[in-house]
Amino acid sequence: MNAFFNEDHEALRQLARDFAERELEPIAHEIDEEEYFPVEVFNEMAEMGFFGLKIPEEYGGSGLDARAYVCVMEELSKKCVSAAVLVSAANTLGCEPLLLAGTEEQKNKYLPQVASGEAFIAFGLTEPNAGSDAGSMTTRAEEDGDDYIINGRKCFITGAPFAKYCMVFAKTDPEKGAKGISCFFVDMSLPGVSIGKNEDKMGQRAIATSDVILEDVRVPKSEMLGEVNLGFITAMKTLSMGRIGVGCQSIGLAQGAMDLAVKHIKERKQFGRRLCDFQAIQFEMAKLETKLNAARLLVYNAAFEKDMGNDVTKAAAMAKFFASETCLEVVSGCLQMFGGYGYSKEYPIERLYRDARVLTIYEGTSQIQQIVIAGQMLK
Ligand SMILES: Cc1cc2nc3c(=O)[nH]c(=O)nc-3n(C[C@H](O)[C@H](O)[C@H](O)COP(=O)(O)OP(=O)(O)OC[C@H]3O[C@@H](n4cnc5c(N)ncnc54)[C@H](O)[C@@H]3O)c2cc1C
Repeated sequence: MNAFFNEDHEALRQLARDFAERELEPIAHEIDEEEYFPVEVFNEMAEMGFFGLKIPEEYGGSGLDARAYVCVMEELSKKCVSAAVLVSAANTLGCEPLLLAGTEEQKNKYLPQVASGEAFIAFGLTEPNAGSDAGSMTTRAEEDGDDYIINGRKCFITGAPFAKYCMVFAKTDPEKGAKGISCFFVDMSLPGVSIGKNEDKMGQRAIATSDVILEDVRVPKSEMLGEVNLGFITAMKTLSMGRIGVGCQSIGLAQGAMDLAVKHIKERKQFGRRLCDFQAIQFEMAKLETKLNAARLLVYNAAFEKDMGNDVTKAAAMAKFFASETCLEVVSGCLQMFGGYGYSKEYPIERLYRDARVLTIYEGTSQIQQIVIAGQMLK
C-alpha cells in the first residue's frame, strides 16, 4: 500500500495480478504468434468486471475511480499488454465520450454492452492524412433530413475488425476546422461501413487494427454524441484519460521486463560469476529501476488528480510522455541483459520489446505530449 491507494484498490490489484498470472501469462506468446485474442479469455475479463471498471453502476459497471483502473491496467500489462489494450479501450476510448457527452438514452443503450463485454466500441479519429494533426481530418458528415451521411476513411483503428460500433469523428462544418467536427456512433453493420486489411504490426499483434471505410453511411441524428461541432473537444478530453491508460501500459510492461531481467541475471553466469554480480549490471538495473519508479509516480499522480476532480491535461500528458519513453529505455536495457537470447522469439523479452514500441506513438506521440505540456505551461 502507498499514499495513492487504499485497501480496496490493493485487493483489486491482487485480483488482477492473479488473473494475469493464471490466464494471460501462459497464452501471451501464442496469441502474439497466432494474431488473435481468445474469445473465452475476453469473456472471462468481462466477467471479472474489467471492462466496466469506470462505468457507473447504473449502466452496468462497477463505478470505480481512476486509481482502481490503474491497478488493473498495471497488473495486466505486466503479463500481456494486448489484454490491457482491451481494458483501456473499454474504459476510456470507448466509454469516456459517452460519459462526457452522451444523452441518457445513449448511455443506457451502449454502456451496459461495453461493461458486459457484449460490444467493443472502436475509436475512429485518425485518418491517413490526419494523425497528430487530427483536426485536419477530411471525413465528412452531411445533414440529410433526420440523418447524417458520412463519407471518409479512418486508419489504425484498434479493434475495428471485431468492434460492434465505432465512434467516428467527422467534419460537419469543414470551414471551421477543428471547431467543425462532430462525433457519431456508427454501427459497424450499417450499409456502407467496411474495414480494411489487418495492419501487419510490429507488436501488440493479438489485437487487430485496421482501417474503417465509410461510404455514404446513413446515421440517424440521434446517434450524434454531444452537440454539433463540439466533437473535437470530446475527443481531446477522452484522450487525456486515455493517456493515463497508456501510462499504465508503460509502467506495467516495463515492470514485466524488469522481472524477467532480474531472474535472468541471477541465473546466467559468465566469467565464472552470475551477471548480477557485475557492478556495471547492478548500476544499470539501479538506473532503470529509479526511472521506472519515477514514471510510476507520475502515472499514479495523474490518476489521483483525476479522482480529485482536477483537470489532468498536463498531468496525463506528462505521465504518458515520461512513462512510455522510460518503458522503451527499460525494455531495451533489460533485453540487453539477455544478450543474444533477448533477440530470440523463444524468450518473452523479445515480444515485450516489440509490444512497447508503439507506446510513444499511439494516443498522441511523445512530441505531441510535449506540445500539450508546454501549451499548458504557457497559456
Ligand atoms: C497500434 C496502433 C493503434 C492505434 N489505435 C488508434 C485508434 O484506436 N484510434 C485512432 O483514432 N487512432 C489510432 N492510432 C493512431 C495513432 O494515434 C497515430 O498513429 C498517432 O497519433 C500519430 O499519427 P501518425 O501516425 O499520422 O503520425 P504523424 O502525425 O504523421 O507524425 C509523424 C511524426 O512526426 C511527429 N510530429 C507530428 N507533428 C509534429 C509537430 N507539430 N511537432 C513535432 N513533431 C511532430 C510525430 O510526433 C511523429 O514522430 C493507432 C496507431 C497505432 C500504431
